[in-house]
Amino acid sequence: MRRSELVRRLDAIPPFPEPDPKLEQIATPAERAADLLFEALARGDLEGRTVADLGSGTGRLAVGAALLGARHVDAFEVDERAVRVARGLGVEGIDWHVADVGSVATDAETVLMNPPFGAQNRGADRPFWTVALARPRAVYAFALADSRTFIEAVAVERAARVEAHRPVPWTLGPTFRHHRKRSVALPVDLWVIRTEGATP
Ligand code: SAH
Repeated sequence: MRRSELVRRLDAIPPFPEPDPKLEQIATPAERAADLLFEALARGDLEGRTVADLGSGTGRLAVGAALLGARHVDAFEVDERAVRVARGLGVEGIDWHVADVGSVATDAETVLMNPPFGAQNRGADRPFWTVALARPRAVYAFALADSRTFIEAVAVERAARVEAHRPVPWTLGPTFRHHRKRSVALPVDLWVIRTEGATP
């Protein structure tokens, strides 16, 4: 599938009906989702692979993975309303689970995630990284630049290798009620981490 077609399909997925700031419910912009997905495709971590999407929201990363040829996708999301929207899309090859990431164990080969950035709720991103780096072989994720030291530390702890991290353009519209400014640019990085199933 061409990038432009993927972006069009992902853009058509509804964002959160009533975004909850505590859960940092911000749908991944379709262009950024495509960046992450094509990065995983190019590195051989998507086509024919088992994939997990942690904090799947209304499903943009999970759906993108299925469209690009993942063997199977498990999507985990704590908000039942968001899962309902995602299920309603009717895309095949995805199991949608209502679950708190803290109670999830996945042995998918590849994890894709746009977790809470920990901006509203400090540390909210941590259980995501713990699960992502436990068994899967490759992790593709977005994070605030502030989290760099933390992510590098967990990677070292897990004997995982940071294959790439680069800043990506990220504009946040006025998503939540407490947002007053029209939009703000956020310093967001795209991470690629390889664990090779590193945990003993
Ligand atoms: N991946 C989606 C949404 C990203 S926003 C997309 O690409 O559009 C972050 C998501 O993480 C939200 O859907 C939020 O509800 C979910 N989330 C936050 N805390 C969570 C937790 N503890 N367990 C599972 N999901 C959680």
